[in-house]
Amino acid sequence: MRITDCALLHLQLSEPAEWSNDEARILRWHKDKHRLDAHWGLSDLGRSRLQIAHVQSWPVIKEFSRHFPLLIAERRFHALANIVLLCPEAHDLYDGTGLIGTSTMLAASALMWERPEALDPLKIFLQTTINAPGGHQTENTNVLHAADILTRAHSAEVDHFLDPWEQRLRDAQRAIDRDEATSIHPGDRAIFAMPRFKL
Ligand SMILES: [Zn+2]
Repeated sequence: MRITDCALLHLQLSEPAEWSNDEARILRWHKDKHRLDAHWGLSDLGRSRLQIAHVQSWPVIKEFSRHFPLLIAERRFHALANIVLLCPEAHDLYDGTGLIGTSTMLAASALMWERPEALDPLKIFLQTTINAPGGHQTENTNVLHAADILTRAHSAEVDHFLDPWEQRLRDAQRAIDRDEATSIHPGDRAIFAMPRFKL
């Protein structure tokens, strides 16, 4: 995945109103830092240093998901909504410091996926996830989320990706019902192997 800017850059500082003063100050410092980078011709260097960050940390997600199989926590941790590309300074200011709020970072992540640069990475993700051969695990939550962003924010056509995938899930469910679980696509086995819950 390669999206070309620090995700925090695209937040509008005039909103949302609930930012604390400290947070607003830090976000302004961060924006000025990028402005100075641009002034001195260092923006490309900055982009080459982008890091993948998680909005919610692994311990937080694990605790939040403690009543579910571990697979659920893993999928929440790797969910598109939990991923954000940051410059190293923004990453340091966020991770474990509490200086920038989780809701601010969630908003930055959502904006990042809606930007034009995200169109190709999202399409490639859908294509490779759905067509992946062998044991590559299909991540259903992210498949749906990527399809939703592509449709809603990028006006992209996704039916040709989703139709074969939905058919595969129907086939998998049929195999479960007939107790022929070995015929499930290897990428879907993790989901169907989870214990069933009493609702
Ligand atoms: Zn940044």
